[in-house]
Amino acid sequence: MKICVLPGDGIGPEIMAEAVRVLKELGLAFEMEEALLGGCAVDATGDPYPEATQKLAQAADAVLLGAVGGPKWDNNPREQRPERGLLGIRKQLGLFANLRPAILYPELANASTLKPEVVAGLDILIVRELTGDIYFGQPRGIEVRNGERFGFNTMHYTESEIRRILRVAFEAARKRSRKVCSVDKMNVLECTQLWRDVAIETGREYPDVELSHMLVDNAAMQLVKNPRQFDVMVTGNLFGDILSDEASMLTGSIGMLPSASLDANNKGLYEPCHGSAPDIAGKGVANPLATILSVAMMLRYTFANDAAARRIEDAVKKVLAQGLRTGDIYEPGMKQVGTREMGDAVLAAL
Ligand code: NAD
Repeated sequence: MKICVLPGDGIGPEIMAEAVRVLKELGLAFEMEEALLGGCAVDATGDPYPEATQKLAQAADAVLLGAVGGPKWDNNPREQRPERGLLGIRKQLGLFANLRPAILYPELANASTLKPEVVAGLDILIVRELTGDIYFGQPRGIEVRNGERFGFNTMHYTESEIRRILRVAFEAARKRSRKVCSVDKMNVLECTQLWRDVAIETGREYPDVELSHMLVDNAAMQLVKNPRQFDVMVTGNLFGDILSDEASMLTGSIGMLPSASLDANNKGLYEPCHGSAPDIAGKGVANPLATILSVAMMLRYTFANDAAARRIEDAVKKVLAQGLRTGDIYEPGMKQVGTREMGDAVLAAL
């Protein structure tokens, strides 16, 4: 197991330290090497995704990432912004499938802003296409036309791009409740009419999985109205960006949510859903559980070690049941702990 570790910026290094401790505690044989990505890489080399990092990431079986970005780099030229590093690594590694579970742990039911009876037991998997769509489409830009500034982007998908992400969703659904909801905007956007057509065609390969379709505006409403109707949701890059953040907020605790981005051979990049939280960076208060749970996803999806993944997930549940909480998920009556203490508790539970 070759693992490339990219702590990144802000709280990245703090939460990654705990995740690495948890990984080491499992006693599995792996090689691990650290490299720079994001703002720290810009500072050191001028490039958010430097060549040394590219080599390491390409040679690894899996990449563990903390988070990148921060106000320090917000006014840099675009190619020197941390987020460019993130888009760059996803594109270069061909990580086209982003898997984001939104699970509400019973112990954290009050953390959601929705009523507990609406969200209790929530367990959704959002599958987002990650390397296509309007985020990468050409032509794009801002130029002057007819005497005024004109901004434009291009949404496009090939049918093979759509089919491969739909297959990831159907395969994932087979391991869950066998329901896939495909989200599009076929009433307005031709590109997503193709999405729906290909979803229907691909669905015929999976007669054991129930396929439904929803327009993205309705999906955004249904997620807050009746989120438990969903099992696996699959959608394009732009809609998935928004819906996956919405779904993660149903749980009320972004500090708890891991994610996986996979290529066609289950090589993956694993990272928490949250960003680099510059407001709390360096204070030792960040919640490391999303990153620790990302290690569990890595063991499950890239290294096919479900038992080790479960050990981590069970340890996290145990720590929550013990009443330990970082500030982001704190409730009166619980014991507030910092990043390190939370890591210690997970190690002890392991
Ligand atoms: P953010 O997720 O970093 O923070 C949002 C809020 O959640 C903040 O109040 C933060 O303190 C809190 N938070 C986030 N993670 C936490 C954790 N583990 N424990 C406790 N609290 C936590 O989002 P933002 O503030 O919009 O963005 C900050 C920076 O992160 C920006 O530069 C942005 O571009 C970048 N970003 C990076 C990624 C990534 O690396 N994948 C994703 C999103 C945002």
